[in-house]
Amino acid sequence: MKLALQSEMAITNDDVRQLDRSYVFHSWSMQGNLNPMVIAGAKGCELWDYEGNTYLDFSSQLVNVNIGYQHPRVLAAMKAQLDELVTIAPATANLARGEAAKRIVSLAPEGFSKVFFTNAGADANENAIRMARLYTGRDKIFSAYRSYHGNTGSAIAATGDWRRVPNEYSRGHVHFFNPYLYRSEFNATTEAEECTRALAHLRRMIEVEGPASIAAILLESVPGTAGILVPPEGYMKGVRALADEFGIVLILDEVMAGFGRTGSWFAFEQDGIVPDLITFAKGVNAGYAPAGGVLISEPISRYFDDHFFAGGLTYSGHPLAMAAIVATLDAMKEEKVVENAALVGNGVLRPGLDALAAKHKLIGNVRGRGMFQAMELVSDRQSKTPLAAAEMGAIKAALTQAGILSFIVENRIHVVPPCTMSAEEVNKGLAIFDHVLAQFSHFAK
Ligand code: PLP
Repeated sequence: MKLALQSEMAITNDDVRQLDRSYVFHSWSMQGNLNPMVIAGAKGCELWDYEGNTYLDFSSQLVNVNIGYQHPRVLAAMKAQLDELVTIAPATANLARGEAAKRIVSLAPEGFSKVFFTNAGADANENAIRMARLYTGRDKIFSAYRSYHGNTGSAIAATGDWRRVPNEYSRGHVHFFNPYLYRSEFNATTEAEECTRALAHLRRMIEVEGPASIAAILLESVPGTAGILVPPEGYMKGVRALADEFGIVLILDEVMAGFGRTGSWFAFEQDGIVPDLITFAKGVNAGYAPAGGVLISEPISRYFDDHFFAGGLTYSGHPLAMAAIVATLDAMKEEKVVENAALVGNGVLRPGLDALAAKHKLIGNVRGRGMFQAMELVSDRQSKTPLAAAEMGAIKAALTQAGILSFIVENRIHVVPPCTMSAEEVNKGLAIFDHVLAQFSHFAK
């Protein structure tokens, strides 16, 4: 059955937009003047509206559709699960949840044994924070200023950027500066300097706050929404060493960076470290049904063998979401999606973006790993002045007009296509970026 607005007549973009604007309250927005893009359907890396316009996806929605749209194998698994069992409470055992957890554990480093399922990334972080506090008997949570951890109580309090809303009920959150050489807080001029100084800063913060009061360091392996800030070599190892030295739980947030995005199953693999807790969501089933979770290392998992874990959600491990996880991970393995993210991301997308930067003065910095890249736009390369919101808006509109679905945050274009995108599609998109940036060359000095 198709949802229809008017039974006989063709649906237009305006019909859907007006329906939305009449009844839907949107996230992270003022409700007054919204003009949401209308999407009718999608397949692979392409989306379309009701009037024949198509878009090549360089956003993966909210950086979650890692295997592309309407993957037949995932759809088939979800339909089969619908016929078998569509809802069951978390306290029972069911096949889909067991199979999903087994697959996730098998992808994790040695020493990880169990998965606690949630509905999304924010509640994964909530529960990881709670586990760390119960396990250590300590209170404080350290997290980075340049971070996003989700929009619920402790997750938004842990978030370090402008989205951290006043939240007096979630206490014990301490923020530190994470490395970001392009706009260094430490006056560093090399990655090595940035790394050393950021680690010295974190050590000092830990000493001043009192190590015995710190339950966890919560860090995105590659901070995503905050700018795709790939940590300098050695930084993650340094954070791991500090956590070990002071008995602090290291929680790595892989909600956005995980499940292939950076060209490895987990982003932290490329830094040669192993955390104590891993939070995930998004790419685990490409958003085909809401799911997230906490991957738990053995010592913490064993601790809860005889200590009560006070936490749980009605839909934790929902069968439909679990069936989608099983099929997504199996499809990713068989179709070598992670390998594609590394090969096409590092071998085609990144060199293409570097070539654009060599040509367009608007691009101040390019950074990223795999299919997780960002271009930072500036009006003046010398002063690194971020391109203003109105100008970014004009670029976004031109990209949409030219058939690219883009992901723009502040003065950055996050170039984050599905991990399945082919070299040909990437090249097609790069040509459009090139054309659009040329149109706006007058924005830069
Ligand atoms: N953690 C990170 C790194 C994220 O990027 C996000 C969402 O963008 C979240 C947590 C929150 O996930 P969700 O929106 O599924 O709650």
